[in-house]
Amino acid sequence: MHAALKLDVVIVGAGLAGIATAFRLSQAGHRVRVLDEHEMRERGRTAVHLPPNGARILVDWGFKGDLESRGHKIRYSMFRNMETGDMIGPQEWREDVMRELGSDYYFMHYHDLYTMLYDAAINAGARIHPNTRAVNVQTNPPRVTLSDRTILEADLIIGADGSQSLVKRVMCGEGDVKPEGHTLFTGIIPTNLMKDDAELARMAETNRQEWQFWPGTSRHTDGVLMRNGTEFALHIHYPNEETLSHETDGWNDEPWRGPRPKAGNTKLQRLIDLCPEMHAQKLFTREAPENWTDESGRLLLIGNAAHPVFPGWGYSCAIHLEDAEVLGTLLARISHASQLPTLLEGFQELREPHLRFIRDTSWPRFFETVMLPPGPERDARDAVLRRPHEGKTWDDSMLRRQFDTFVGAFGYNARDVAENWWTTWGRLLRQRSRGTLHGASGPMCSVPSFHVTMEEAVHVRASEL
Ligand SMILES: Cc1cc2nc3c(=O)[nH]c(=O)nc-3n(C[C@H](O)[C@H](O)[C@H](O)COP(=O)(O)OP(=O)(O)OC[C@H]3O[C@@H](n4cnc5c(N)ncnc54)[C@H](O)[C@@H]3O)c2cc1C
Repeated sequence: MHAALKLDVVIVGAGLAGIATAFRLSQAGHRVRVLDEHEMRERGRTAVHLPPNGARILVDWGFKGDLESRGHKIRYSMFRNMETGDMIGPQEWREDVMRELGSDYYFMHYHDLYTMLYDAAINAGARIHPNTRAVNVQTNPPRVTLSDRTILEADLIIGADGSQSLVKRVMCGEGDVKPEGHTLFTGIIPTNLMKDDAELARMAETNRQEWQFWPGTSRHTDGVLMRNGTEFALHIHYPNEETLSHETDGWNDEPWRGPRPKAGNTKLQRLIDLCPEMHAQKLFTREAPENWTDESGRLLLIGNAAHPVFPGWGYSCAIHLEDAEVLGTLLARISHASQLPTLLEGFQELREPHLRFIRDTSWPRFFETVMLPPGPERDARDAVLRRPHEGKTWDDSMLRRQFDTFVGAFGYNARDVAENWWTTWGRLLRQRSRGTLHGASGPMCSVPSFHVTMEEAVHVRASEL
């Protein structure tokens, strides 16, 4: 669907949120420019989760073939004690439950997903500008100042510049930042290195639709095959007090040079030692901004800039695809400039409660499950995990329980929520814009009316970049 009013949109940040949004807004007919301070295509350290809510969006966007050829589908989570290596039990991701949720759970190399969306954004018409750093943003009219003093004018500026967002800082300050307590170590093992080790070789068999878990005491590890079984991605959450990790977060390029995490069991330790290199990043809890849009309704935060989540988390890719889908669906319907602030408010209204729900339920529940000291709570967890291992068959109530556990997060349908919102509010918006304003076409902010503070600043309409 093409919007009746075409907007000039500048997206600051070509991460997953920025690129996916550029794709959807370009598809809706808007003129989209994406700026990133880095050279971008070569990024990604590990596998990214594609739970059903993310995978469904990729299928809707036409990537079913890529998902199946590049993604690794999961049917079982295999739980082993991190200290001893002993099997606790497999959890099956039941086919009938996944069918009800509309998709399976996949993993894909972050780089493969990223380049797929990057190419799609360009094919849809977006222009992407690497090595282009934003140093300020302002509104009335909306504009971005670049480090070379160019001032880009647009109808809408989107801050997709990550958890340490400049756009967020300008809009509402940094907010509280606290260490979460763990460091995330990641490593990729070429599976041909695993094939000489009888115990590890089993995990490298490409037909195994398994996600390996090693829950431990205040730490845990998980691992999964990717790239048609040629690579095994390892993620280790390790307590800060037992490592000398970096003081900052982010997927930096430098490999980790300090001592590697200690597994406790020799099989997992061999896997850790097989990683040609590891990367480490400390986890921080960041306060989310209260408002994702400013008073002018021409500045919007999305992705980690709006709702920061931990890297490598199960939802940390799907929620950015959802942002892109909701915003793309809403902005495909814009017909008058006066509708923009309400549409942006609608975006936050549709996204924030859902994101709060998964942040407040899923992360604590996940940690409570995989990081338990020995004791009654761990015994109770292990008893539940052991049940299918001991030959108990699935009955209707077990299926129902699994569906209920998943449906809150995985059942969110980004396109439906946006379309439903439009059905409720769209007519009112159209009536209001017809009644109060005239001339629904052409650029929304035609003449720069602001004071130029930098003497040599060069003003450029974003679409001319
Ligand atoms: C280099 C890199 C590698 C990653 N690898 C993985 C991985 O292997 N596995 C995984 O699960 N997740 C990975 N992530 C994902 C990340 O953790 C996020 O969850 C995800 O990309 C969505 O976040 P985002 O788009 O909101 O922000 P980000 O991905 O952080 O992207 C923000 C972008 O904004 C740019 N930027 C910031 N400030 C400015 C500015 N002032 N001017 C211009 N540009 C600016 C940054 O260069 C960055 O490209 C990676 C991210 C990056 C940036």
